[in-house]
Amino acid sequence: MPKIIQYRDKCIGCGICFELQPELWRMSRKDGKAVLLKAAAKKLTHVLQVTAQQYEEARAVSEACPVRVIKLG
Ligand code: SF4
Repeated sequence: MPKIIQYRDKCIGCGICFELQPELWRMSRKDGKAVLLKAAAKKLTHVLQVTAQQYEEARAVSEACPVRVIKLG
């Protein structure tokens, strides 16, 4: 199953992921960082299993993240 992986501690809160794929992302009011919705937290990463279509859409999100903290797995 394809996955999106976010290294959340290094997120700078630019909001691009939320703009590009709003069904999967929210911006936290607490710390200003992006939240990968329904993701499982594992050590420093947040991991979400996604559909093939969401995975394809996430390629552009991963490339657009200015600090490259969104990976695909
Ligand atoms: S695009 Fe990257 S840096 Fe910007 S809010 Fe999303 S995860 Fe954080």
